[in-house]
Amino acid sequence: MDCIFCNIIIGKIPCYKTFENDDVMAFLDINPVSHGHTLVVPKKHFTNMEDITEEELGKLIKAVKKVAYALKNGLGAAGYNVQLNNDPEAGQEVPHIHFHIIPRRQGDGLKIWKQTQYNKGEIEKVVDKIKGRI
Ligand code: 5GP
Ligand code: ZN
Repeated sequence: MDCIFCNIIIGKIPCYKTFENDDVMAFLDINPVSHGHTLVVPKKHFTNMEDITEEELGKLIKAVKKVAYALKNGLGAAGYNVQLNNDPEAGQEVPHIHFHIIPRRQGDGLKIWKQTQYNKGEIEKVVDKIKGRI
């Protein structure tokens, strides 16, 4: 088995674990964006959002809520970002689905996204393309 997170889950690779239950585990990211940066992963291997079942995703996001609460209050963070990098093109390096919880502090200067604008007529086309697939 060559999945880093599966190996962390079975204890073959050490980690700083903050939470686990039967289905989910949370541990500190080895290269944190900020102190307390946490990864929340399902214990079963799923690659990404397309792969994971709705049931398992439900359990995962419940754990994200629980861990985020502890992280914000325990570390006295001003807030946090929850991020999922889905697919390598979107920055996913480890192909075992995981949510990042990134604690934020006043004036930390982190700017996650560069925003743009739609040109005239573009927004209607975009919304139609998405709605057509739901
Ligand atoms: P991704 O880019 O796939 O969304 O995020 C993968 C994350 O896993 C990165 O933030 C990276 O620092 C973290 N990571 C990679 N290898 C290890 C490891 O062996 N241990 C821990 N704790 N985190 C890891
Ligand atoms: Zn895995």
